[in-house]
Amino acid sequence: MNPQPIILTGKFGTSTVWVGERIGNLAEHLPSGSVFAITDENLYRHYPEPFKDIPVFVLKPGEQSKTIASIEEICRWLMDQGAGRDAFILGVGGGVVCDIAGFAASVFMRGVAFGFVATSLLGQVDGCIGGKNGVNLDGYKNIIGNFSQPRFVICDTRMLHTLPEVEFRNGLAEVIKHALIADGEMFDYIRKHHDDILRLKPEAINYLVKRSVEIKAAIVSADEREQGERRKLNLGHTWGHAVEKTDGIPHGQAVSIGLEFAAALSVKKDLLSHNDREEIAGLLKKFRLPVKTQTPNREIFEALQKDKKKENDYLYFILMDGIGKVRVEPVTLSELLSFICQQGT
Ligand code: NAD
Ligand code: ZN
Repeated sequence: MNPQPIILTGKFGTSTVWVGERIGNLAEHLPSGSVFAITDENLYRHYPEPFKDIPVFVLKPGEQSKTIASIEEICRWLMDQGAGRDAFILGVGGGVVCDIAGFAASVFMRGVAFGFVATSLLGQVDGCIGGKNGVNLDGYKNIIGNFSQPRFVICDTRMLHTLPEVEFRNGLAEVIKHALIADGEMFDYIRKHHDDILRLKPEAINYLVKRSVEIKAAIVSADEREQGERRKLNLGHTWGHAVEKTDGIPHGQAVSIGLEFAAALSVKKDLLSHNDREEIAGLLKKFRLPVKTQTPNREIFEALQKDKKKENDYLYFILMDGIGKVRVEPVTLSELLSFICQQGT
């Protein structure tokens, strides 16, 4: 496939996403000036080639690197390298590397240009797209950050062959989320091409990544700062984040449980049929994604309540209006609690 650009436009810059582009063509996207790369040990081990001619800062893989200390170290390293206002920062990695590289680039010397090679499925369909950058603080995720768009994001889907399978499955939860938000046909495609997807058949993977990016880009272009439309991307995340806290399971798996919860609540509100709810749960299970936890819903509710901003007694819940359409509705905490009690857990 010849990669087609997907353009994301916002107040914080314009970003061009290239799905299906090869990392081997990276040089065509880089500016002629001084480029500095940030990656993690896994990517550096699998793909040393792009770093032959570019100075590179190699992070420890995983969430524990998403700290302000990493940003400080990177800025110090950039100074040592003689980087100036014309520096271009290249992040090569999953959501973690891109969050760190994007934030470091947008604060170094009050902001220099940057671009990404997104290497994990989650990064390609979500984490490296949309212009949110940031790091964690004291166990709270993405507390320090900003909005700034990368000049480009290359999604080389061939790189997914080296991604651990469990990471691939976790990324699929966000792909299914995108289909549920905006594209019923995409949902049917995932159902029908389940084997091709797990076998990383290029046609299937490129289609899923491309549609996911198009859906996210359209929503972000309409509402970069999450004041309305962008909330839709939180489908499965209100409940999912609380499950992530209580169960300490990977994000994608928590989102999968959150999607099933949102589907159940949507059935209760007569927005989704029982049949559709079963289709959704069936699809998640086919990809070995969980749809429930051992933790009683009451405990998850308590975690959710604790996490919530204090101003009001409701939260914006993303509900499924059939498959491929969502609506954002305020749901009061007492309504949520009575729904949980009716469910019997
Ligand atoms: P990750 O970056 O930690 O990648 C997962 C693991 O896979 C890591 O060990 C990494 O080294 C490895 N890996 C990545 N690509 C590989 C490849 N091609 N071959 C071999 N190994 C590879 O995590 P992730 O799941 O990509 O992203 C999760 C992060 O994204 C979270 O920190 C989350 O907060 C963030 N995120 C950000 C946004 C946003 O809008 N900024 C949105 C969603 C998620
Ligand atoms: Zn997510």
